[in-house]
Amino acid sequence: MKNIVILGSTGRIGIQALEIISQFSDKFNLIGISGYTNLNLLEQQILQYKPKYVAIPNNSDAKSFQVKYKDTKILSGKESLNEIVSLEAVDIVCVSIVGIAALLPTVTAIRHGKVIALASKEVLVAAGHIVMPLLEKHKTRLYPIDSEHAAIAMCLSGFNKTSVNSIILTASGGPFLYYKDLSAVTLEQALKHPNWVMGKKITIDSATLVNKGLEVIEAKWLFDISYDKIKVIIHPQSIVHGMIELNNGAVISQMSNPDMKMPILYALSEGAVNSRMDNQLDMTSAKLEFMEPDVLRFKGLRLAYESGRKGHSWPTVFNCANEVAVDMFLKREISFMDISNIIEETLNRHEEVKNPSLDDIRQIDNWVVENVSHGC
Ligand code: MG
Repeated sequence: MKNIVILGSTGRIGIQALEIISQFSDKFNLIGISGYTNLNLLEQQILQYKPKYVAIPNNSDAKSFQVKYKDTKILSGKESLNEIVSLEAVDIVCVSIVGIAALLPTVTAIRHGKVIALASKEVLVAAGHIVMPLLEKHKTRLYPIDSEHAAIAMCLSGFNKTSVNSIILTASGGPFLYYKDLSAVTLEQALKHPNWVMGKKITIDSATLVNKGLEVIEAKWLFDISYDKIKVIIHPQSIVHGMIELNNGAVISQMSNPDMKMPILYALSEGAVNSRMDNQLDMTSAKLEFMEPDVLRFKGLRLAYESGRKGHSWPTVFNCANEVAVDMFLKREISFMDISNIIEETLNRHEEVKNPSLDDIRQIDNWVVENVSHGC
């Protein structure tokens, strides 16, 4: 029995993680959840799943919850996420907060020896050079809640690293795969992903292919592999989630229906695959197409590779500039094409910081927020 805390339980991944935990109640036990803005759903989750602990960073919201829910321990304030992840009883922390805000609670959880199930890929993008050695130091592990990376981990199991020529991340191509001109696309169009139902930020990231760029950097850290050996291929059906190419030319793939519950279960099971899921792929109706990504139309992917290869503070800037730009696009302040333009301009303006510390990353993040909102 594994005791689990979910950070960001009211997001798309958090909601599905709660469903998995209650579906496999012989394996998982929910200890705590956290929420920030969607307080109505947080209340429903308290009533339905009865977590012992709930973290609510906003003090006045936390106070009113504590008055209402006397049997639940409400943790409040800026430190509440750090407190909930370090509770003695917790085995696994499922991190599904949007963006770089997930970094510090993830680091705290690792320092307390917790296993991490990580949906917030931005953590590895900005701080893979800090997080990976920290996992080793505290003798714990991190499992990605990302369909492509879970797929590649499954493909890699049983093969010696030296026999792997490359890993291949598939991308659906998003809603604009077949659009020649992206200059007039709307927010509503960008929010309609053809295959996946996801949170707003990642849905926009999928439409720009920045999500795939973030995943390339994530893969570099997870699988300790050079950028030359990480390929991206467009696969509109989202049935093949990841592939590896062996030295002898054989390609191993993982196929399943597009359903985040599989990678969530895989991460919470710490890489075990013995739990039965009832979402079998019908191979007779699976149509599989593959094509090269167009990095001219979707330059976010090219910028991600460039930032990843340069290392140091570049991926942090890439990620933060994207977060700010996506937020502006969601508020209708900029156009769709402005997102990758802003990333490029911000990267060009930034001065490299070698091997950034957690504090440097926070400062770079602040610089990006200032720069993007005043500069463009
Ligand atoms: Mg993914």
